[in-house]
Amino acid sequence: MTSIFFLAALLWPTRLCSGDWCYHSQFPCDTCKGPDEWTSLFPTCGGQSQSPINIVTRRVQYDPTLTPFVFEGYDTVSSITVQKHENNVHFVLPPEVGVQGGGLSGRYKATQLHLHWGIDGQPGSEHRVDGEQYAMELHIAHEKEQPKSEEDDNEHAVLAFFIEESGERNEALDYLLNAMNSVLYSGNQTSIDFRLNDIIPAASDLSGYYRYSGSRTTPSCEQNVVWTVFFRTIPVSRSQLNSVSRLWAAAGRNSSRTFRPTQRLNGRTVSCSTSALFVPWTALVWLSTTPCWDLL
Ligand SMILES: [Zn+2]
Repeated sequence: MTSIFFLAALLWPTRLCSGDWCYHSQFPCDTCKGPDEWTSLFPTCGGQSQSPINIVTRRVQYDPTLTPFVFEGYDTVSSITVQKHENNVHFVLPPEVGVQGGGLSGRYKATQLHLHWGIDGQPGSEHRVDGEQYAMELHIAHEKEQPKSEEDDNEHAVLAFFIEESGERNEALDYLLNAMNSVLYSGNQTSIDFRLNDIIPAASDLSGYYRYSGSRTTPSCEQNVVWTVFFRTIPVSRSQLNSVSRLWAAAGRNSSRTFRPTQRLNGRTVSCSTSALFVPWTALVWLSTTPCWDLL
């Protein structure tokens, strides 16, 4: 028995230090590459159009082509496969789920959704607005249905929702969080019956959003993502936040603080849609100075 434990002790560090990428290099691992070193493994991560970014609201430009989205299949209950990956959990979405409109060039079919979170209840969103980092961030990933060109910088469309700490429990979100926690300790895969409309704000509340061109926020950081970051947030209670951030932190490296630091804008324009009805309160001070809001 002693020899088994000794063998496990020898193998354990090897598994942790796989030479792969990780979110934070402060983990006790000599070889995994934190965000500052991703470029050494994936050169594209050092590109000029990387994500996430800090959205500076006074520099956002109004774009009249950013019309409301048409959400397809978001109100249909589907059997969703929940897969545990090395550093996140993916909820695999059926192709019947998709979006059009929203200034996108054609229909995009949904592929998966996932969350980004912090540690011990601390903020863990990837994008920031005027420097503010939110509790968590939900990404619903889509890919273009039309034939794609070799280097299509619009190949993917990700809808991003900030999840903001609230005094009340969000029971709909529990469905996702419980599934995430179940695959952590009970195998790598499960399935749930699930409807997207149950966790995101009503479509009528989603006409306000930011838009910019960027990249995947994990290696290999391909710069082919049309980003949509909605004004309207999803509430989460402190206990829900803790349930994820503490449980996953206990699981080891790459399972907490699962967000990439913000990247340089490098001259890119961040646009916003026509509606400011649900703009965060802190942004209202910019109403009189921002071109976006002047046209509302
Ligand atoms: Zn993501």
